[in-house]
Amino acid sequence: MPIFVRENVFIGDINGAADILQKGSKEFTHVLSLLSSSSISFFSDWRSDVSILTKDVEKVYIDGSKICSKPYDDRFDAMASKNVLSSEKLLYSLELVGPELTLVRMAIPLRDMEEENLLDHLDVCLDFIEKGKKEGAVLVHCFAGVSRSAAVIIAYLMRSEQKSQEDALESLRQSCNSVCPNDGFLEQLKMFEKMNFKVDHSNPIYKQFRLKVLGDSYYMGAKIDSSIFGADPGVPVVSNPVVTVHKKNERTLGYRCKKCRRVVAVQGNVIGHSPGEGEKCFEWRKRRSGNPYKQIDENCTSLFIEPLKWMTAVEEGALEGKLSCIHCNARLGYFNWSGVQCSCGNWITPAFQIHKSRIDVSSL
Ligand SMILES: [Zn+2]
Ligand SMILES: [Zn+2]
Repeated sequence: MPIFVRENVFIGDINGAADILQKGSKEFTHVLSLLSSSSISFFSDWRSDVSILTKDVEKVYIDGSKICSKPYDDRFDAMASKNVLSSEKLLYSLELVGPELTLVRMAIPLRDMEEENLLDHLDVCLDFIEKGKKEGAVLVHCFAGVSRSAAVIIAYLMRSEQKSQEDALESLRQSCNSVCPNDGFLEQLKMFEKMNFKVDHSNPIYKQFRLKVLGDSYYMGAKIDSSIFGADPGVPVVSNPVVTVHKKNERTLGYRCKKCRRVVAVQGNVIGHSPGEGEKCFEWRKRRSGNPYKQIDENCTSLFIEPLKWMTAVEEGALEGKLSCIHCNARLGYFNWSGVQCSCGNWITPAFQIHKSRIDVSSL
């Protein structure tokens, strides 16, 4: 049975969800499913007596592509089947479900694993909960109602009640004491708190997280997706909104190739680390003291930055290689997916390293 958390917001497991989705409900209008498969057939694969009537509404992919059901979009069936194998790229799918097709179900493909990317799904989950709460009642469920659904509800309590991760977890435990999100989710919720309850893509915390995700997918053999690399700050200002924004609002530090003066990075591209901790500082799953998001240390001889669009050598897929200036080809640094040790002793993994001796700093 779904457990009450807040007015019109409930947490539950797959059994409770299956009953509601199959038989319909007087109480619930919205169901948020967090399961390893977004497919509704997952329910009948798991329990043969469950059969659920469903009608697809839309599918939205991580890269921003979106397909809507007929009659809105004739491509739906073809694209939906073509994308069956790339379900890990699915951000969410939206369906009408139940005997009268009156329940709105959002399905998010999410495995209960520490390295799973929860952050990138949070905004859509929380907006769906808000909407469900307003229009009726929403059930947030995963398989056991312990880790995934709890993590999303904790984020919801954090954002709607401005609670810390710890306080939100404690508050949820008062409704449902069995909840226990995995450590990777808790760590991501901590980042969510530090970013003021927003998944802010320009925040260094998010950039560090994104780099870790990119490193994990490199090791799982995925093709490097350079479309998510940061914009090249060296392209002319008029056609580069990133630099234009800096120009308008405030001056920022720029890093130029010493030889040809081309801008190769700006301060916002730098991913800071705590000097001298002597371990992988990008290991965001582990809790540690100190501020791991500190910007640039004067004593480190290198700058570690996010991968940028000019780093064409990285796209080729090698484990390591040189980073050269795209304008004059001077050697600027080095990248290595398995990490580099900074002069301060800290291991940075993965590493996109620029030697400070090869660049000049100036304000832009
Ligand atoms: Zn150069
Ligand atoms: Zn260092």
